[in-house]
Amino acid sequence: MILFVSSCGPVPEIWGGSPPPAATPIGAYLPIQIAINPATTAQPAAVTEAPPPTIEPTITLTATSTATFTPAPTNTPTFTPTPSKANIERVLIISYDGLRPDAIELAPMPNLMALMQGGAYAPLTARTIDYPATSPSHASMLSGLCMEDHGVIYNNFFMYMGYSKGVDVFDLAHEAGLKTVMIVSKDKLRQLAEPETTDVFEVAYGEPAITRTAVAQIADDFDLMFIHFAGGDNRGHQYGWMSGEYMKVLQAGDEALGEIIQTLKDNNLFDTTLFIITADHGGHDKNHIGLIIEDYRIPWIAYGPGVIPQVLDLKIYTMDTAATAAYALGLPLNPEWDGIPVYQIFGEPQLKTHERYPCKT
Ligand SMILES: [Zn+2]
Repeated sequence: MILFVSSCGPVPEIWGGSPPPAATPIGAYLPIQIAINPATTAQPAAVTEAPPPTIEPTITLTATSTATFTPAPTNTPTFTPTPSKANIERVLIISYDGLRPDAIELAPMPNLMALMQGGAYAPLTARTIDYPATSPSHASMLSGLCMEDHGVIYNNFFMYMGYSKGVDVFDLAHEAGLKTVMIVSKDKLRQLAEPETTDVFEVAYGEPAITRTAVAQIADDFDLMFIHFAGGDNRGHQYGWMSGEYMKVLQAGDEALGEIIQTLKDNNLFDTTLFIITADHGGHDKNHIGLIIEDYRIPWIAYGPGVIPQVLDLKIYTMDTAATAAYALGLPLNPEWDGIPVYQIFGEPQLKTHERYPCKT
């Protein structure tokens, strides 16, 4: 039996009552300091559990991810990124399974925070689909489609169900002759893309194995890469979201990000790579399929050539990741997509926005 979150009746307002801080106008592309092996002596802060869900989802926000980053010193840049979207040569999508935005600073994840500081990110206004489970949510992330359209309705891959339907960003990239790489840490995610559209598909378990696999693939270059870290979700289910064990594996995931960044730099690829870093869902207690905002809200961070550092306060759905990646790679946007490119990250007019939740499921 699968659990659908009902979409009957009015869509609950789960965006929250307090708007995020206004974007700080920044004229220059901020250099950032990447910590490859950050000191992890800080103990995860004690986190107050979110209140239990009420039947009527009038949600009280408990987000603590308001941006308060200290700008990196501008006199010691570690690299000089190119300032134009036209310089994007490849896109790297990273999904931290079950990462809550408010865990990033608490863990902490200093490499990710550095990308946030130098990029565009949504601390409060990005969310996944109404069935915040791993397979359906990731399918929406990469297909640009709602669950009713991509057809990945189970949180397991049954061969008879087939692969995610519709034209996803991997289909588009492969059709255009681009090199596509997918590295996942749950084998059921094979369902996300047909084997013929991924030039490389690898399953690696645990942050060190994922890192080794990613580093080897980066050295061979790529045009579109998806990396999935399962640690946060695994620890969340076992020990609880926002628990010390959850935070520890997020730190490991962040150290992996540091190695990925360093490998890109070592191969002179970093300055031409667009990062989109996000998650499939959040979580609370020991699960992530409820009716509370902590389950739906996801981080959404873009960093790379042409990205204007800013706090994004527009509604972003996980389907927008596929659309933004396709747009950045100059691929034709699929008119059937429910996702919309987040043009605003490049300082461009946001031609279209989500007026409401676009899916039936
Ligand atoms: Zn998940």
